[in-house]
Amino acid sequence: MSYAFGPHLIRSNQIFLFSKLSFAFVNLKPVLPGHVLVAPFRVVPRFAELTYEEICDLFSCTQTIGKVIEREYHATSLTIAMQDGPEAGQTVPHCHVHLIPRKAGDYANNDDIYKDIEKSSKVDNEERPPRSLEEMAREAEFLRQFFKDSK
Ligand code: AMP
Repeated sequence: MSYAFGPHLIRSNQIFLFSKLSFAFVNLKPVLPGHVLVAPFRVVPRFAELTYEEICDLFSCTQTIGKVIEREYHATSLTIAMQDGPEAGQTVPHCHVHLIPRKAGDYANNDDIYKDIEKSSKVDNEERPPRSLEEMAREAEFLRQFFKDSK
């Protein structure tokens, strides 16, 4: 089974958490290990289009996932980001949260991570080739064990 992420299809083997209104999946081009995405099932581009229930669900999932990926990727902080609209760098027109485990020294200049988040999604970005379906499935399988209670 596949789920829409804007115009893309995310296979269930890429997904590690299902909640009532959201799903979370591993990234095709992570900027750092553990860079994952959380999105509502409903395909709407902008944050302002989410209902109250979708916002609560999306951010509750973000919090739950954040705790796990921070621990499992041996990080001590998180970057939680949303590019809300094309002028803010959004390339996939489906509202989503970026969640990235952070550690001391991972970026010498912290703001560079935002440039990388924006760059990573560009189709023609040669610096960061897409990961294989197998690699993404392995990471999702690893993460799934921590969210067994999710729907
Ligand atoms: P944004 O630029 O904020 O819209 O972010 C889009 C994100 O989606 C980037 O982190 C991409 O690497 C990621 N992405 C694009 N296509 C896929 C896909 N098929 N599977 C997983 N992640 C994807």
